[in-house]
Amino acid sequence: MSFKQFDRDFTWPKAEEDILEFWDKERIFERATEAAKDREQFVFYEGPPTANGRPGIHHLISRTIKDMVCRYKAMQGFRVDRKGGWDTHGLPVEIEVEKRLGLKNKKDVLKYGVAEFNQQCRDSVFTYLEDWNRLTRRTAFWLDLENPYVTLENNYIESVWWILKDFFDRDLIYQGHRTVPFCPRCGTGLSSHEVAQGYEEVSDPSVYVKIKARDKDYSFLVWTTTPWTLPSNVALAVKSDAEYAIVQIGAEEGAEKIVLAKDLVEQVFAMLKRDDKNAPDPKILETVNGSEFVGDEYEPLFDFYPEFKAPAYTVVAADFVTLNDGSGIVHIAPGFGADDYEVGKREGLPVPQAIEPNGHFKDLAGKYAGMWIKDADLEIIKDLKIAGQLFKKQKYVHSYPFCWRCHSPLIYIARPSWYIRTTQFRGAMLESSQAVNWKPPETGSGRMNNWLENNIDWSISRERFWGTPLPFWKCEAEKCDKVRAVGSVEQLLSEATNPPSVDELDLHKPQMDEVTLKCECGGTMRRIPELCDVWFDSGAMPFAQWHYPFENKELVEQITFPADFHCRGD
Ligand SMILES: [Zn+2]
Ligand SMILES: [Zn+2]
Repeated sequence: MSFKQFDRDFTWPKAEEDILEFWDKERIFERATEAAKDREQFVFYEGPPTANGRPGIHHLISRTIKDMVCRYKAMQGFRVDRKGGWDTHGLPVEIEVEKRLGLKNKKDVLKYGVAEFNQQCRDSVFTYLEDWNRLTRRTAFWLDLENPYVTLENNYIESVWWILKDFFDRDLIYQGHRTVPFCPRCGTGLSSHEVAQGYEEVSDPSVYVKIKARDKDYSFLVWTTTPWTLPSNVALAVKSDAEYAIVQIGAEEGAEKIVLAKDLVEQVFAMLKRDDKNAPDPKILETVNGSEFVGDEYEPLFDFYPEFKAPAYTVVAADFVTLNDGSGIVHIAPGFGADDYEVGKREGLPVPQAIEPNGHFKDLAGKYAGMWIKDADLEIIKDLKIAGQLFKKQKYVHSYPFCWRCHSPLIYIARPSWYIRTTQFRGAMLESSQAVNWKPPETGSGRMNNWLENNIDWSISRERFWGTPLPFWKCEAEKCDKVRAVGSVEQLLSEATNPPSVDELDLHKPQMDEVTLKCECGGTMRRIPELCDVWFDSGAMPFAQWHYPFENKELVEQITFPADFHCRGD
């Protein structure tokens, strides 16, 4: 083997090919790995790419860096295992299959059949495997692609289940109600890193609405950019220590009166003047402290929830109300916003959701029933205008999140969800992060630390089809809410009242939805329908790639729980 530098046909790409050929022929990677077998370990974790997408330039960068570090450590005399892996679950796979089959939403998938749909997902997962293998070899990334871990395999899922059961038994998993960014088309909540990928500058309607105070001669002025949430309104929030003004619109005796933050009067009426020189001037009649309105009732804009009684449709105080824009009075819809939900919880408000999670109005919403939220926006504005309750309509350009896969606008909706108490480990994680030798240091002190400091409990459930089923079975019996976690295939088969055949065992939907367990109370336990966040799959890799603790127990514990390991959080 030589570089043949003086050959007429020498090129660097050609030289690289020659070297790769030599490595292949002499099995250099395998032999180097074999020779290092008994040396001290340097642990390398290959975060798995999704093989149903083509590799991109960012993969080239990350793979080059990974290889450099591993090579350097190997040359220093360490044993560096380089197990490859593939991320095979989740939305990216489902969306590809949906597109190919012409399915538009979750209903279509159900009609098509979950078993067949998931089979299509499974078949499509390795569409670009050859591209990946070629790229990996050509960039000289030494990686064991002969024995990769694959997140869809039963063994892998079994390890993920084992972890989840361990968390469950330690009371680190709970079911809650939280406001999540939700894609109405995909029908699932998105994680914050997914949301961050889809912000776009868009123009939405911005409307100022007059909501009549009960038994008073004025209306509260409210600003919103999501008119479709108005039918789900149950409260108005003011800033209790701010000054509000009762303003007469125009100088005429008996003219209409509205309430808004005193600091915003000028701004709001200037906005009217911009479009219409003859717009009325404000006449401030009285200045009132925000706290004085708290508890006041108002007349709901719509009559979709006649059963609601006070404290619904009253004015409440909230710290998050600002006087920067709008009117200083915030419309509260606890079903559609994290702040709103918190206020609702505090005040004991109902949580109406006039729309289905698919973004279409429910039947109870009268003339809007079945309407898509964005279409309803226009209709609602029109109706408010007819009712004389529209103060002003504008366009509002702002940055709004869209689904990174299907491009639907996300909505913030309160959903039942399963959580891991990651916040219980915030301190331990920060401590660990500070002990890491980050390169460059800002990645640790900045981005990672900020993220850890602001850590919130991890919402791990996903309402989809192709992924690791959450291994929690819930009792159906009335007055029994027992939940049992299943942490192994052995447990599943021994506790199931209708165990699946071992030869055809598939730890996915729909097979796992058919397995029932018997509750202590005698009732039937069924699996909850949700799947696990695909990021949990890849995050479980340090254990699951070795099928821990069912295999390779010693190897994994030696790596993962060294003598000074202390990050158990409690
Ligand atoms: Zn989507
Ligand atoms: Zn029970």
